Amino acid sequence: MSALFLRLRVGLGVRAQLVVWYTALFGLILLVAAGIFYGAFRVVLELQVDQAVHTRADQIAAHLTHDGSTLMVLPTSGSGSASTPLQAASDTSVATVVYGQSDALVRILNTSGAVVYQTPSMHSVTLPTESVSAPLSGGVWEDTIRLSGISFAHVYARPLKDGKQVFGVVQVGQSLDLATTTAGVSAVVLLALTPLILAAGAGGAFWLAGLAFRPVRRLTAAARAVQPGDLGRRVPVPAPQDELRDLAQTFNAMLARLDAAFVAQRRFIADASHDLRSPVAAMKSLAENGRDGVGSQDPKVALDNIAHQSERLSRLLTNLLALARLDEGQGQQEWELVRLDTLVEDVVESLRPLIERRGIALLVDAEKPLTVEGDFAQLLLAVSTIIDNALTYTASGGSVHASIELSGPRSVRITVRDTGIGISGDDLPHIFERFYRADRARGHAEGGSGLGLAIAQAIITAHGGSIIASSELTVGSTFAITLPVATNAAV
Ligand code: ADP
Repeated sequence: MSALFLRLRVGLGVRAQLVVWYTALFGLILLVAAGIFYGAFRVVLELQVDQAVHTRADQIAAHLTHDGSTLMVLPTSGSGSASTPLQAASDTSVATVVYGQSDALVRILNTSGAVVYQTPSMHSVTLPTESVSAPLSGGVWEDTIRLSGISFAHVYARPLKDGKQVFGVVQVGQSLDLATTTAGVSAVVLLALTPLILAAGAGGAFWLAGLAFRPVRRLTAAARAVQPGDLGRRVPVPAPQDELRDLAQTFNAMLARLDAAFVAQRRFIADASHDLRSPVAAMKSLAENGRDGVGSQDPKVALDNIAHQSERLSRLLTNLLALARLDEGQGQQEWELVRLDTLVEDVVESLRPLIERRGIALLVDAEKPLTVEGDFAQLLLAVSTIIDNALTYTASGGSVHASIELSGPRSVRITVRDTGIGISGDDLPHIFERFYRADRARGHAEGGSGLGLAIAQAIITAHGGSIIASSELTVGSTFAITLPVATNAAV
Protein backbone atom coordinates (compact mmCIF):
# COMPACT_ATOMS: atom_id res chain seq x y z
CA MET A 1 0.00 0.00 0.00
CA SER A 2 2.76 2.41 0.96
CA ALA A 3 4.60 1.47 -2.25
CA LEU A 4 1.47 2.39 -4.18
CA PHE A 5 1.27 5.69 -2.31
CA LEU A 6 4.91 6.36 -3.16
CA ARG A 7 4.41 5.54 -6.82
CA LEU A 8 1.35 7.78 -6.91
CA ARG A 9 3.24 10.59 -5.24
CA VAL A 10 6.39 10.26 -7.28
CA GLY A 11 5.13 9.27 -10.70
CA LEU A 12 1.87 11.12 -11.24
CA GLY A 13 1.01 14.75 -11.59
CA VAL A 14 -1.54 16.29 -9.21
CA ARG A 15 -4.29 16.13 -11.83
CA ALA A 16 -3.69 12.44 -12.57
CA GLN A 17 -3.47 11.69 -8.83
CA LEU A 18 -6.81 13.41 -8.28
CA VAL A 19 -8.37 11.33 -11.06
CA VAL A 20 -6.94 8.09 -9.65
CA TRP A 21 -8.10 8.86 -6.12
CA TYR A 22 -11.54 10.06 -7.23
CA THR A 23 -12.05 6.95 -9.34
CA ALA A 24 -10.83 4.59 -6.63
CA LEU A 25 -13.07 6.24 -4.06
CA PHE A 26 -16.00 6.28 -6.45
CA GLY A 27 -15.48 2.57 -7.23
CA LEU A 28 -15.34 1.73 -3.54
CA ILE A 29 -18.53 3.68 -2.87
CA LEU A 30 -20.25 1.88 -5.77
CA LEU A 31 -19.16 -1.53 -4.44
CA VAL A 32 -20.37 -0.77 -0.94
CA ALA A 33 -23.63 0.65 -2.35
CA ALA A 34 -24.15 -2.48 -4.50
CA GLY A 35 -23.57 -4.68 -1.43
CA ILE A 36 -25.98 -2.68 0.72
CA PHE A 37 -28.53 -2.56 -2.11
CA TYR A 38 -28.31 -6.33 -2.67
CA GLY A 39 -28.63 -7.08 1.06
CA ALA A 40 -31.57 -4.69 1.59
CA PHE A 41 -33.34 -5.91 -1.53
CA ARG A 42 -33.04 -9.54 -0.42
CA VAL A 43 -34.30 -8.77 3.06
CA VAL A 44 -37.37 -7.00 1.66
CA LEU A 45 -38.13 -9.81 -0.79
CA GLU A 46 -37.66 -12.47 1.89
CA LEU A 47 -39.97 -10.58 4.22
CA GLN A 48 -42.58 -10.64 1.48
CA VAL A 49 -42.15 -14.42 1.10
CA ASP A 50 -42.37 -14.79 4.85
CA GLN A 51 -45.58 -12.82 4.89
CA ALA A 52 -47.00 -14.81 1.97
CA VAL A 53 -46.48 -18.26 3.58
CA HIS A 54 -48.06 -17.07 6.81
CA THR A 55 -51.10 -15.73 4.97
CA ARG A 56 -51.46 -18.85 2.87
CA ALA A 57 -51.15 -21.16 5.88
CA ASP A 58 -53.81 -19.13 7.70
CA GLN A 59 -56.11 -19.25 4.64
CA ILE A 60 -55.73 -23.04 4.39
CA ALA A 61 -56.35 -23.46 8.10
CA ALA A 62 -59.53 -21.42 7.72
CA HIS A 63 -60.84 -23.88 5.06
CA LEU A 64 -60.21 -27.02 7.08
CA THR A 65 -62.10 -28.66 9.87
CA HIS A 66 -62.34 -32.19 11.26
CA ASP A 67 -64.78 -34.85 11.85
CA GLY A 68 -63.36 -36.75 14.78
CA SER A 69 -60.37 -38.42 13.19
CA THR A 70 -60.92 -37.23 9.58
CA LEU A 71 -59.73 -33.94 8.19
CA MET A 72 -62.49 -32.22 6.21
CA VAL A 73 -62.51 -29.37 3.65
CA LEU A 74 -65.20 -26.79 4.37
CA PRO A 75 -67.48 -26.10 1.43
CA THR A 76 -67.00 -22.75 -0.39
CA SER A 77 -69.44 -20.25 1.08
CA GLY A 78 -72.84 -20.13 -0.62
CA SER A 79 -72.40 -23.50 -2.43
CA GLY A 80 -74.80 -25.23 0.03
CA SER A 81 -72.89 -28.54 -0.23
CA ALA A 82 -71.46 -30.41 2.78
CA SER A 83 -67.83 -30.65 3.89
CA THR A 84 -65.66 -33.10 1.94
CA PRO A 85 -63.12 -35.37 3.57
CA LEU A 86 -59.72 -34.07 2.64
CA GLN A 87 -58.47 -37.45 1.45
CA ALA A 88 -61.43 -37.80 -0.91
CA ALA A 89 -60.84 -34.43 -2.61
CA SER A 90 -58.94 -34.61 -5.84
CA ASP A 91 -55.53 -32.93 -5.87
CA THR A 92 -56.62 -30.42 -8.45
CA SER A 93 -59.79 -29.34 -6.72
CA VAL A 94 -58.04 -29.01 -3.37
CA ALA A 95 -55.18 -27.18 -4.94
CA THR A 96 -57.27 -24.69 -6.90
CA VAL A 97 -60.15 -24.16 -4.49
CA VAL A 98 -58.37 -24.28 -1.18
CA TYR A 99 -54.66 -23.76 -1.59
CA GLY A 100 -54.22 -21.52 -4.63
CA GLN A 101 -51.63 -22.58 -7.16
CA SER A 102 -51.11 -26.29 -7.77
CA ASP A 103 -47.29 -25.86 -7.73
CA ALA A 104 -47.39 -24.42 -4.22
CA LEU A 105 -45.53 -26.25 -1.46
CA VAL A 106 -48.34 -27.39 0.79
CA ARG A 107 -48.52 -30.41 3.06
CA ILE A 108 -51.29 -31.29 5.52
CA LEU A 109 -50.74 -33.85 8.25
CA ASN A 110 -53.05 -35.40 10.83
CA THR A 111 -52.48 -35.60 14.57
CA SER A 112 -50.40 -38.77 14.20
CA GLY A 113 -48.03 -36.96 11.86
CA ALA A 114 -49.16 -38.85 8.74
CA VAL A 115 -49.42 -36.90 5.48
CA VAL A 116 -53.05 -36.49 4.51
CA TYR A 117 -52.43 -34.26 1.56
CA GLN A 118 -49.48 -32.64 -0.21
CA THR A 119 -49.02 -30.77 -3.46
CA PRO A 120 -46.85 -32.48 -6.10
CA SER A 121 -43.93 -30.08 -5.53
CA MET A 122 -43.95 -31.02 -1.82
CA HIS A 123 -43.38 -34.73 -2.51
CA SER A 124 -39.64 -34.45 -2.66
CA VAL A 125 -39.32 -32.03 0.26
CA THR A 126 -38.10 -33.48 3.54
CA LEU A 127 -38.61 -31.37 6.62
CA PRO A 128 -37.20 -31.85 10.15
CA THR A 129 -39.44 -33.56 12.71
CA GLU A 130 -39.87 -30.30 14.62
CA SER A 131 -41.89 -29.02 11.66
CA VAL A 132 -44.56 -31.48 12.80
CA SER A 133 -43.93 -31.90 16.51
CA ALA A 134 -43.92 -28.17 17.27
CA PRO A 135 -47.33 -27.45 15.66
CA LEU A 136 -48.83 -30.63 17.15
CA SER A 137 -47.95 -29.29 20.59
CA GLY A 138 -49.65 -25.98 19.76
CA GLY A 139 -46.64 -23.94 18.54
CA VAL A 140 -45.38 -22.87 15.12
CA TRP A 141 -42.21 -23.68 13.21
CA GLU A 142 -40.52 -21.91 10.37
CA ASP A 143 -37.17 -22.06 8.63
CA THR A 144 -35.36 -21.67 5.33
CA ILE A 145 -34.51 -25.03 3.83
CA ARG A 146 -32.45 -26.13 0.84
CA LEU A 147 -34.60 -27.66 -1.90
CA SER A 148 -31.77 -28.60 -4.23
CA GLY A 149 -28.45 -27.05 -5.31
CA ILE A 150 -28.77 -23.31 -4.78
CA SER A 151 -32.53 -23.43 -4.56
CA PHE A 152 -34.00 -22.51 -1.16
CA ALA A 153 -37.52 -22.24 0.23
CA HIS A 154 -39.01 -20.64 3.27
CA VAL A 155 -41.40 -23.03 5.09
CA TYR A 156 -43.94 -22.23 7.80
CA ALA A 157 -45.81 -24.87 9.80
CA ARG A 158 -48.77 -24.16 12.09
CA PRO A 159 -51.34 -26.26 13.90
CA LEU A 160 -54.88 -26.74 12.61
CA LYS A 161 -57.08 -25.97 15.58
CA ASP A 162 -60.64 -26.35 16.60
CA GLY A 163 -60.81 -24.12 19.64
CA LYS A 164 -57.99 -25.42 21.75
CA GLN A 165 -57.89 -28.82 20.12
CA VAL A 166 -55.17 -29.46 17.55
CA PHE A 167 -56.52 -31.65 14.76
CA GLY A 168 -53.66 -31.45 12.29
CA VAL A 169 -50.72 -29.54 10.87
CA VAL A 170 -50.40 -27.42 7.76
CA GLN A 171 -46.99 -26.73 6.26
CA VAL A 172 -46.67 -24.05 3.58
CA GLY A 173 -43.46 -23.17 1.74
CA GLN A 174 -42.41 -20.80 -0.98
CA SER A 175 -39.31 -20.89 -3.08
CA LEU A 176 -36.82 -18.06 -2.48
CA ASP A 177 -35.46 -18.39 -6.01
CA LEU A 178 -37.32 -15.38 -7.31
CA ALA A 179 -36.13 -13.20 -4.44
CA THR A 180 -32.53 -14.39 -4.80
CA THR A 181 -32.57 -14.04 -8.56
CA THR A 182 -34.14 -10.57 -8.52
CA ALA A 183 -31.67 -9.25 -5.93
CA GLY A 184 -28.74 -11.02 -7.65
CA VAL A 185 -29.63 -9.74 -11.10
CA SER A 186 -29.97 -6.17 -9.79
CA ALA A 187 -26.55 -6.41 -8.13
CA VAL A 188 -24.98 -7.92 -11.26
CA VAL A 189 -26.48 -5.17 -13.43
CA LEU A 190 -25.09 -2.57 -11.04
CA LEU A 191 -21.66 -4.23 -11.09
CA ALA A 192 -21.76 -4.57 -14.88
CA LEU A 193 -22.46 -0.85 -15.11
CA THR A 194 -19.64 -0.07 -12.68
CA PRO A 195 -16.86 0.26 -15.32
CA LEU A 196 -19.09 2.61 -17.31
CA ILE A 197 -19.93 4.67 -14.22
CA LEU A 198 -16.27 4.68 -13.19
CA ALA A 199 -15.15 5.77 -16.65
CA ALA A 200 -17.68 8.59 -16.57
CA GLY A 201 -16.52 9.49 -13.03
CA ALA A 202 -12.86 9.49 -14.08
CA GLY A 203 -13.64 11.66 -17.12
CA GLY A 204 -15.58 14.06 -14.90
CA ALA A 205 -12.79 14.16 -12.33
CA PHE A 206 -10.22 14.84 -15.09
CA TRP A 207 -12.32 17.67 -16.48
CA LEU A 208 -13.04 19.14 -13.03
CA ALA A 209 -9.38 18.94 -12.00
CA GLY A 210 -8.46 20.75 -15.22
CA LEU A 211 -11.03 23.41 -14.43
CA ALA A 212 -9.74 23.75 -10.86
CA PHE A 213 -6.14 24.13 -12.05
CA ARG A 214 -6.91 26.75 -14.69
CA PRO A 215 -6.37 29.67 -12.23
CA VAL A 216 -3.14 28.00 -11.06
CA ARG A 217 -1.93 27.85 -14.67
CA ARG A 218 -2.83 31.51 -15.12
CA LEU A 219 -0.92 32.33 -11.94
CA THR A 220 2.10 30.32 -13.11
CA ALA A 221 2.12 32.13 -16.46
CA ALA A 222 1.90 35.50 -14.72
CA ALA A 223 4.65 34.50 -12.26
CA ARG A 224 6.84 33.29 -15.13
CA ALA A 225 6.49 36.67 -16.83
CA VAL A 226 8.09 38.39 -13.81
CA GLN A 227 11.73 39.02 -14.71
CA PRO A 228 14.59 39.94 -12.33
CA GLY A 229 14.61 43.55 -13.49
CA ASP A 230 10.83 43.76 -13.47
CA LEU A 231 9.87 43.15 -9.85
CA GLY A 232 7.25 45.90 -9.97
CA ARG A 233 4.94 43.49 -11.81
CA ARG A 234 2.16 41.73 -9.88
CA VAL A 235 0.14 38.60 -10.63
CA PRO A 236 -3.63 39.05 -10.96
CA VAL A 237 -5.53 38.32 -7.72
CA PRO A 238 -8.61 36.08 -8.31
CA ALA A 239 -11.88 37.51 -6.95
CA PRO A 240 -13.19 34.50 -4.93
CA GLN A 241 -12.00 34.34 -1.33
CA ASP A 242 -10.13 31.04 -1.59
CA GLU A 243 -6.69 29.44 -1.38
CA LEU A 244 -5.74 30.68 -4.84
CA ARG A 245 -6.48 34.25 -3.83
CA ASP A 246 -4.27 33.71 -0.74
CA LEU A 247 -1.54 32.28 -2.96
CA ALA A 248 -1.68 35.21 -5.40
CA GLN A 249 -1.67 37.73 -2.53
CA THR A 250 1.22 35.95 -0.80
CA PHE A 251 3.13 35.84 -4.07
CA ASN A 252 2.53 39.56 -4.66
CA ALA A 253 3.60 40.36 -1.09
CA MET A 254 6.78 38.35 -1.66
CA LEU A 255 7.42 40.24 -4.92
CA ALA A 256 6.91 43.53 -3.08
CA ARG A 257 9.41 42.50 -0.39
CA LEU A 258 11.92 41.35 -3.00
CA ASP A 259 11.41 44.57 -4.93
CA ALA A 260 11.99 46.65 -1.80
CA ALA A 261 15.06 44.57 -0.94
CA PHE A 262 16.50 45.00 -4.44
CA VAL A 263 15.82 48.73 -4.43
CA ALA A 264 17.43 49.06 -0.98
CA GLN A 265 20.42 47.01 -2.12
CA ARG A 266 20.87 49.06 -5.29
CA ARG A 267 20.63 52.28 -3.32
CA PHE A 268 23.04 50.93 -0.71
CA ILE A 269 25.58 49.98 -3.38
CA ALA A 270 25.20 53.37 -5.08
CA ASP A 271 25.56 55.22 -1.74
CA ALA A 272 28.48 53.07 -0.63
CA SER A 273 30.29 53.53 -3.94
CA HIS A 274 29.69 57.27 -3.78
CA ASP A 275 30.95 57.53 -0.19
CA LEU A 276 33.97 55.35 -0.93
CA ARG A 277 34.80 57.28 -4.10
CA SER A 278 35.09 60.74 -2.53
CA PRO A 279 37.97 59.99 -0.08
CA VAL A 280 39.73 57.86 -2.69
CA ALA A 281 39.41 60.63 -5.30
CA ALA A 282 40.65 63.20 -2.75
CA MET A 283 43.66 61.03 -1.84
CA LYS A 284 44.42 60.39 -5.51
CA SER A 285 44.49 64.07 -6.42
CA LEU A 286 46.50 64.98 -3.28
CA ALA A 287 49.06 62.26 -4.08
CA GLU A 288 49.25 63.21 -7.79
CA ASN A 289 49.65 66.88 -6.98
CA GLY A 290 52.42 66.05 -4.53
CA ARG A 291 54.16 63.78 -7.03
CA ASP A 292 53.90 66.26 -9.90
CA GLY A 293 54.70 69.28 -7.73
CA VAL A 294 51.42 70.95 -8.76
CA GLY A 295 50.29 73.80 -6.50
CA SER A 296 52.25 75.34 -3.72
CA GLN A 297 50.88 73.15 -0.96
CA ASP A 298 53.28 72.06 1.74
CA PRO A 299 53.88 68.27 1.23
CA LYS A 300 53.34 67.76 4.99
CA VAL A 301 49.86 69.31 4.74
CA ALA A 302 49.12 67.12 1.69
CA LEU A 303 50.21 64.01 3.62
CA ASP A 304 48.12 65.13 6.58
CA ASN A 305 45.11 65.44 4.28
CA ILE A 306 45.81 62.02 2.79
CA ALA A 307 46.04 60.56 6.32
CA HIS A 308 42.72 62.25 7.21
CA GLN A 309 41.02 60.92 4.08
CA SER A 310 42.38 57.40 4.63
CA GLU A 311 41.15 57.58 8.22
CA ARG A 312 37.68 58.46 6.87
CA LEU A 313 37.89 55.64 4.34
CA SER A 314 38.97 53.18 6.99
CA ARG A 315 36.08 54.23 9.28
CA LEU A 316 33.65 53.81 6.44
CA LEU A 317 35.01 50.36 5.56
CA THR A 318 34.86 49.31 9.24
CA ASN A 319 31.23 50.43 9.35
CA LEU A 320 30.37 48.59 6.14
CA LEU A 321 32.04 45.45 7.45
CA ALA A 322 30.16 45.75 10.76
CA LEU A 323 26.87 46.09 8.87
CA ALA A 324 27.64 43.11 6.64
CA ARG A 325 28.44 41.00 9.73
CA LEU A 326 25.26 42.11 11.47
CA ASP A 327 23.24 41.33 8.34
CA GLU A 328 24.71 37.85 8.39
CA GLY A 329 23.73 37.49 12.05
CA GLN A 330 27.22 36.65 13.30
CA GLY A 331 28.52 37.09 16.81
CA GLN A 332 25.84 35.61 19.04
CA GLN A 333 28.27 32.99 20.35
CA GLU A 334 30.32 35.74 22.04
CA TRP A 335 27.48 36.94 24.26
CA GLU A 336 28.18 37.65 27.89
CA LEU A 337 26.59 39.51 30.82
CA VAL A 338 26.97 43.24 30.27
CA ARG A 339 26.44 45.87 33.00
CA LEU A 340 24.88 48.87 31.31
CA ASP A 341 25.98 51.45 33.89
CA THR A 342 29.61 50.38 33.41
CA LEU A 343 29.15 50.40 29.66
CA VAL A 344 27.77 53.96 29.65
CA GLU A 345 30.62 55.08 31.91
CA ASP A 346 33.12 53.60 29.43
CA VAL A 347 31.42 55.47 26.59
CA VAL A 348 31.51 58.75 28.51
CA GLU A 349 35.15 58.18 29.37
CA SER A 350 36.08 57.59 25.74
CA LEU A 351 34.15 60.71 24.68
CA ARG A 352 35.56 62.90 27.46
CA PRO A 353 37.92 64.87 25.13
CA LEU A 354 35.01 65.61 22.74
CA ILE A 355 32.76 66.64 25.64
CA GLU A 356 35.38 69.05 26.93
CA ARG A 357 36.17 70.42 23.48
CA ARG A 358 32.48 71.05 22.72
CA GLY A 359 31.74 72.53 26.13
CA ILE A 360 28.64 70.45 26.64
CA ALA A 361 27.28 69.31 30.00
CA LEU A 362 26.89 65.52 30.09
CA LEU A 363 24.83 63.99 32.88
CA VAL A 364 24.55 60.26 33.52
CA ASP A 365 21.82 58.74 35.73
CA ALA A 366 22.10 55.07 36.57
CA GLU A 367 19.43 54.02 39.09
CA LYS A 368 21.14 50.75 39.97
CA PRO A 369 23.29 48.13 38.25
CA LEU A 370 21.29 46.69 35.36
CA THR A 371 22.57 43.77 33.36
CA VAL A 372 21.76 42.58 29.86
CA GLU A 373 23.08 39.70 27.84
CA GLY A 374 25.04 40.50 24.69
CA ASP A 375 28.21 41.38 22.89
CA PHE A 376 29.96 44.09 24.95
CA ALA A 377 31.85 45.61 22.01
CA GLN A 378 28.74 45.80 19.84
CA LEU A 379 26.58 47.30 22.59
CA LEU A 380 29.36 49.79 23.35
CA LEU A 381 29.39 50.79 19.66
CA ALA A 382 25.59 51.23 19.58
CA VAL A 383 25.44 53.34 22.78
CA SER A 384 28.49 55.42 21.86
CA THR A 385 26.94 56.15 18.42
CA ILE A 386 23.85 57.57 20.10
CA ILE A 387 25.81 59.62 22.70
CA ASP A 388 28.35 60.71 20.06
CA ASN A 389 25.51 61.93 17.82
CA ALA A 390 23.91 63.77 20.74
CA LEU A 391 27.20 65.58 21.40
CA THR A 392 27.84 66.18 17.68
CA TYR A 393 24.44 67.69 16.96
CA THR A 394 24.31 69.84 20.10
CA ALA A 395 25.87 73.27 20.13
CA SER A 396 28.34 74.39 22.82
CA GLY A 397 26.62 75.28 26.06
CA GLY A 398 23.94 72.65 25.46
CA SER A 399 23.45 69.52 27.50
CA VAL A 400 23.16 65.78 27.03
CA HIS A 401 21.42 63.59 29.58
CA ALA A 402 21.83 59.81 29.60
CA SER A 403 19.78 57.62 31.95
CA ILE A 404 19.47 53.88 32.54
CA GLU A 405 16.32 52.51 34.18
CA LEU A 406 13.93 49.59 34.23
CA SER A 407 11.12 50.13 31.72
CA GLY A 408 9.20 46.96 32.51
CA PRO A 409 9.48 43.83 34.64
CA ARG A 410 12.09 42.38 32.28
CA SER A 411 13.29 45.27 30.16
CA VAL A 412 15.75 48.03 30.60
CA ARG A 413 15.89 51.39 28.82
CA ILE A 414 18.80 53.69 28.05
CA THR A 415 17.56 57.18 27.20
CA VAL A 416 19.82 59.82 25.65
CA ARG A 417 18.27 63.28 25.58
CA ASP A 418 19.99 66.30 24.04
CA THR A 419 19.24 70.00 23.58
CA GLY A 420 20.67 70.03 20.05
CA ILE A 421 19.49 70.98 16.58
CA GLY A 422 16.70 68.40 16.51
CA ILE A 423 15.43 66.42 13.56
CA SER A 424 12.63 67.54 11.22
CA GLY A 425 9.47 65.49 10.87
CA ASP A 426 10.48 64.75 7.25
CA ASP A 427 13.88 63.36 8.26
CA LEU A 428 12.86 61.50 11.43
CA PRO A 429 11.40 58.39 9.69
CA HIS A 430 14.60 57.98 7.65
CA ILE A 431 17.45 58.52 10.10
CA PHE A 432 17.93 54.76 10.69
CA GLU A 433 18.33 54.10 6.94
CA ARG A 434 21.80 53.38 5.65
CA PHE A 435 23.66 56.49 4.43
CA TYR A 436 20.80 58.79 5.37
CA ARG A 437 21.93 62.20 6.61
CA ALA A 438 19.62 65.11 7.23
CA ASP A 439 20.71 68.21 5.32
CA ARG A 440 20.98 70.25 8.52
CA ALA A 441 23.40 67.65 9.91
CA ARG A 442 25.96 67.97 7.13
CA GLY A 443 27.51 71.15 8.48
CA HIS A 444 27.80 69.65 11.96
CA ALA A 445 29.63 66.41 11.37
CA GLU A 446 32.02 66.42 8.48
CA GLY A 447 33.07 62.84 8.83
CA GLY A 448 29.58 61.37 9.27
CA SER A 449 28.64 58.68 6.80
CA GLY A 450 25.00 58.15 7.72
CA LEU A 451 25.74 54.54 8.77
CA GLY A 452 26.00 55.05 12.56
CA LEU A 453 22.30 54.76 13.41
CA ALA A 454 21.77 51.91 10.91
CA ILE A 455 24.54 49.96 12.67
CA ALA A 456 23.23 50.86 16.14
CA GLN A 457 19.73 49.71 15.18
CA ALA A 458 21.02 46.45 13.68
CA ILE A 459 22.99 45.77 16.89
CA ILE A 460 20.05 46.49 19.20
CA THR A 461 17.65 44.42 17.06
CA ALA A 462 20.14 41.53 17.10
CA HIS A 463 20.05 41.78 20.91
CA GLY A 464 16.26 41.43 20.95
CA GLY A 465 15.70 45.12 21.70
CA SER A 466 14.44 48.21 19.92
CA ILE A 467 15.51 51.76 19.40
CA ILE A 468 13.22 54.73 18.83
CA ALA A 469 13.81 58.42 18.27
CA SER A 470 11.67 61.47 18.95
CA SER A 471 12.68 65.00 18.23
CA GLU A 472 11.68 68.60 17.82
CA LEU A 473 13.60 70.92 15.52
CA THR A 474 15.86 73.38 17.41
CA VAL A 475 14.67 71.98 20.78
CA GLY A 476 16.43 68.62 20.91
CA SER A 477 16.21 64.90 20.34
CA THR A 478 15.62 61.82 22.49
CA PHE A 479 16.84 58.34 21.61
CA ALA A 480 15.55 55.40 23.68
CA ILE A 481 17.16 51.97 23.52
CA THR A 482 15.15 49.15 25.11
CA LEU A 483 16.82 45.80 25.81
CA PRO A 484 15.68 42.63 27.60
CA VAL A 485 17.19 42.16 31.05
CA ALA A 486 19.55 39.18 31.25
CA THR A 487 17.52 36.13 32.29
CA ASN A 488 20.11 34.85 34.76
CA ALA A 489 20.92 38.23 36.29
CA ALA A 490 19.38 39.57 39.48
CA VAL A 491 17.27 42.64 38.68
P1 ADP B 1 25.96 60.38 10.88
O1 ADP B 1 27.24 59.72 10.61
O2 ADP B 1 25.55 61.34 9.85
O3 ADP B 1 25.80 60.89 12.25
P2 ADP B 1 23.93 58.56 11.73
O4 ADP B 1 23.40 57.36 11.09
O5 ADP B 1 24.55 58.40 13.07
O6 ADP B 1 24.94 59.21 10.70
O7 ADP B 1 22.76 59.58 11.84
C1 ADP B 1 21.94 59.78 10.72
C2 ADP B 1 21.36 61.18 10.74
O8 ADP B 1 20.45 61.33 11.81
C3 ADP B 1 22.38 62.24 10.98
O9 ADP B 1 23.02 62.61 9.79
C4 ADP B 1 21.54 63.36 11.54
O10 ADP B 1 20.89 64.04 10.50
C5 ADP B 1 20.48 62.64 12.32
N1 ADP B 1 20.77 62.58 13.78
C6 ADP B 1 21.21 61.51 14.46
N2 ADP B 1 21.29 61.79 15.79
C7 ADP B 1 20.90 63.07 15.93
C8 ADP B 1 20.77 63.96 17.07
N3 ADP B 1 21.08 63.57 18.33
N4 ADP B 1 20.33 65.22 16.83
C9 ADP B 1 20.01 65.62 15.58
N5 ADP B 1 20.12 64.85 14.47
C10 ADP B 1 20.55 63.58 14.65
